[in-house]
Amino acid sequence: MSVNLQTPIDYLKGVGPNRADLLRSELGIHTYQDLINLFPNRYLDRTKYHKISELQRNSADVQIVGKITGFKEVAQKRGKRLIGTFQDDTGKIDLVWFRGQKWIRDSIKLNTPYVIFGKINWFNGVYNMPHPELELLSDHKKSLRSSMQAVYPSTEKLANKGITNRVLTKIMQSLFLETKGRFSETLSDHLISELKLLPKSDALFNVHFPKSQKLLSRSEFRLKFEELFYIQLQLILKNLIHKSKIKGFPFKSVGDYFNSFYKNNLPFDLTNAQKRVLKEIRHDLGSNAQMNRLLQGDVGSGKTIVAFMSMLMALDNGFQACLMAPTEILSVQHYQGLLDLSKELNISIKLLTGSTNTSDRRKIHESLENGDLQILIGTHALLEDKVKFKNLGLAIIDEQHRFGVAQRSKLWKKNTSPPHILVMTATPIPRTLAMSVYGDLDISIIDELPPGRQAIKTVHRYDKNRLKVMRFMRDEIEKGRQIYVVYPLIQESSALDYKDLMDGYESIVREFPQPNYQISIVHGKMKPVDKDYEMQRFVKGETQIMVATTVIEVGVNVPNASVMIIESAERFGLAQLHQLRGRVGRGAEKSYCILMTSHKLSEDSKTRLETMTRTSDGFEIAEVDLKLRGPGDIMGTQQSGVLNLKIANIIKDKDILQSARFYAKQILNQDPSLGLPEHTTILKTYRELSKYKNIWNYIS
Ligand code: ADP
Ligand code: MG
Repeated sequence: MSVNLQTPIDYLKGVGPNRADLLRSELGIHTYQDLINLFPNRYLDRTKYHKISELQRNSADVQIVGKITGFKEVAQKRGKRLIGTFQDDTGKIDLVWFRGQKWIRDSIKLNTPYVIFGKINWFNGVYNMPHPELELLSDHKKSLRSSMQAVYPSTEKLANKGITNRVLTKIMQSLFLETKGRFSETLSDHLISELKLLPKSDALFNVHFPKSQKLLSRSEFRLKFEELFYIQLQLILKNLIHKSKIKGFPFKSVGDYFNSFYKNNLPFDLTNAQKRVLKEIRHDLGSNAQMNRLLQGDVGSGKTIVAFMSMLMALDNGFQACLMAPTEILSVQHYQGLLDLSKELNISIKLLTGSTNTSDRRKIHESLENGDLQILIGTHALLEDKVKFKNLGLAIIDEQHRFGVAQRSKLWKKNTSPPHILVMTATPIPRTLAMSVYGDLDISIIDELPPGRQAIKTVHRYDKNRLKVMRFMRDEIEKGRQIYVVYPLIQESSALDYKDLMDGYESIVREFPQPNYQISIVHGKMKPVDKDYEMQRFVKGETQIMVATTVIEVGVNVPNASVMIIESAERFGLAQLHQLRGRVGRGAEKSYCILMTSHKLSEDSKTRLETMTRTSDGFEIAEVDLKLRGPGDIMGTQQSGVLNLKIANIIKDKDILQSARFYAKQILNQDPSLGLPEHTTILKTYRELSKYKNIWNYIS
């Protein structure tokens, strides 16, 4: 008879109601199943014994055999501490207790061999070990020792309430005794033999009580694979269901707009990456399912023309299209860009933003509803209830990290049937992460920049070299170039940041006086019209220097601007630095990015600066970013719950993730309903995982 793993943890020997409450509240362990899935953080070597004379100041956890020869109490600010002298045949150390002193004094046998285990500190010329684990040598000899003893995740509260690692280990042991360590297999025979995986029961045993390093590694592999496999299965299944259930508008034909643009009006040859991505989009739009696609491409990789040509496919089939951008400036730029691209085509395009006046707005609403207006571009003003399309066939969202998922789905509600959705982002998300976070979106990647781009030379300069930097700026302006100077504005409201910006602006105005020099300034507190005016002066080349906050971060395109100076660069995140740098290097001229910082730099800042000067590969930068910040801070991951992984690690285990995705795909290709006999185990496990929300809450 097998034990039901959904049994509440209260019933396990050694747990009881108090401990059960703590396990629930501190570690989220409700059932036997949850407990088995409490995987160790690390393992300690309990087969090694140290001599006191060999201790090093940086010794981590050590185990020593010796005797306690006496106690003394030392008064301290609050209360007292108890110190025991512990010695072996090579020397002495202090054992220190801040709590539980009476119990220690009463239960310890003096001058009797003990094995102690714990962290070593160096204090006032003596080694000491606070709150050591203690065991009589005679007992120790009887107990199971392992070179890999599990250390479980814990919390301060658990430790204070006496649920130490030793107690957790004991509880785990009793779970294995009660279940006889027999657990149902959760993967198919085929996967197990194909990947030479350990059976489930062996893997679980060896991850908690490893018999050898080799078995531990194989156990971890098996459990990580399983975890990632079921996530991928879920994501891919969701995607398949979506495709079969949600009918899109099939764009049957590639018609006049597209063809005549392609033949007569293409301003340049498309890169191979752009062609490939267009084919992927074309394939989606022509099929019967609704497209849900993420288009990733580094800044400057040429996403705009892909967006435009996708819209032409919608228009060719009698549908409308819209493009939503996160800021007014970007919307305006897109609007002008698309007007330019479409100037030979006779298409109606309009712009709708917060600053569109009432009468224009009314006209737009009208022509949108009667179908005269074909393409609408704008900010989230597009999401207002009054904006009603006659037949929206394609919605494109640029720089989606500014829009929430909820906003994305608002666009859906604008139609009886959802439009095709293309989400464009310039933030390179490492593929592994994208797979987990956007596993339910299809992904297209433009991984090639248009030809003729020169590498941007990136350097790091300290504030004290400012004079040299100014000289360099003057030389570049002399050559006819334009320059960005960007200040951090971490919080829109931060008065200090504005002061930095204005101080900086004034010192630049002093160094570069009129009438020889003209300077633009743009920041978030300005009115949209003023911002736009300043922006346009720079775009037209009337000003040589643009002083700005990160307002210009996304999308702005001024090919003649070839120098990007980032002030207080240590305060920017990697993704932002990369985005900013992408503003230059768009023309034929050699471009530069200068990262200005103070002398005080944290380790992370140094890594960021070093990464920026070393590489311009957005994906490589994103990998570093991911390592520095963890997946939690990367956009979109909050909802996805990649944080809640129990054993796998999205960054370190990307090979396992790739293989898990591969097999999940393979299985679903062959058997989308998991109905074949050989997939019974997988179907059963999948259903169970979906049923118990507390285990599976990362897939909602
Ligand atoms: P992003 O992906 O950052 O939105 P854009 O679409 O704004 O990039 O393109 C950046 C610049 O590169 C624009 O000036 C655009 O006209 C140009 N461009 C795009 N594709 C190509 C190409 N295949 N060949 C040459 N220039 C291109
Ligand atoms: Mg763009």
